[in-house]
This record gives sequence, C-alpha cells and structure tokens, in this order.
Amino acid sequence: MAGVNQACIFCEIVRNPTTTRLLHTDEKVIAFQDIKPAAQRHYLVIPKEHIPTVNDLQRRDEDYSLVRHMLSVGQQLLQKDAPQSIHRFGFHQPPFNSVDHLHLHCFALPYVPRWKAIKYKSLGPLGGFIEAETLLEKIRPLLSKGFVLVAVHEIIIIILFQLNWCRCVLATS
Ligand SMILES: [Zn+2]
Ligand SMILES: [Zn+2]
Repeated sequence: MAGVNQACIFCEIVRNPTTTRLLHTDEKVIAFQDIKPAAQRHYLVIPKEHIPTVNDLQRRDEDYSLVRHMLSVGQQLLQKDAPQSIHRFGFHQPPFNSVDHLHLHCFALPYVPRWKAIKYKSLGPLGGFIEAETLLEKIRPLLSKGFVLVAVHEIIIIILFQLNWCRCVLATS
C-alpha cells in the first residue's frame, strides 16, 4: 500500500484493522478509541495514508478536503455516541504530538480526569493544540479550482464583448 510507514503504530492499525475495534472505516480514513481516553469519549480519526503531522499539510484542495472529511467523520461519531455533550476537535502540533501520524482528537467533554485538559491547550504562537477549524482556515486553498474556472470564463466573455464592440465602432465610423 502506498504511503504506509513500516515503523508507525497507526499505519500498523491501517494494515491490520482486526487488531483494533474500528468505529469507522472508509476509503480515506479510519477511526478508533484513543488508547488512553482523556474525556468522556475520546476518539481518533486518522488518514489511511501516512502523513506525519499538521506541518505536512499545505494550502491545497486534497489536504483541505482530507481534514474536512476527518472532522466530519469525528462529528458524526460523537453526534451518534454522545449527542448531549460538548464536542471538541483538534490536533497536536509538533513537538507536542505523541505519534507521528496525523490524528484528529475528538472529545465529548468533560475531560476525565479534569487535569487532562492541560494536554489539549493551545499555546498560541508556541503551538500546542490547534482546533480543527483553525487548522482548516490555515490550509484553505486561496483559490479553488472552481473559482479559477469561473474567473477565466468571465475574462473570455469580457474579451469577446470588447472585440465585438470595437468591430461595431469600426463598422459604424
Ligand atoms: Zn503512519
Ligand atoms: Zn495526539
């Protein structure tokens, strides 16, 4: 399988899904319980492909839609299993990540025990934990393909219109 790292424990789960109880699996991602839950519910959503950390994500469609998809899988799971709780979703930024395979932490709060919250604090410019929505803002493609196509289309129409107008002016003069 492409994009699998032999030494990575999360790639091992992707290769041998029977060793872990999976909460979700599809073409792109799998989800399972965090081995050391820090909240009432604590799930991880990981890409099947070995992407080390959030620092390996860029402003491009495929990265953005992957993280969007990870988040929506996490939201659906918690919506199903803990609909009454407050949910929180995010990533550790290096060097605060425990495993070098991108993983989205999905929490149904409260943290158990409470002091575990400290592990998932944002440290501002120092990094720490980053909310999924904040990360999505950071990697949102500046120009989506659709937008570029529309823009090119508009420009062509304007040029054609201008040419036509010149021809009319010339014809009538
Ligand atoms: Zn991996
Ligand atoms: Zn983590």
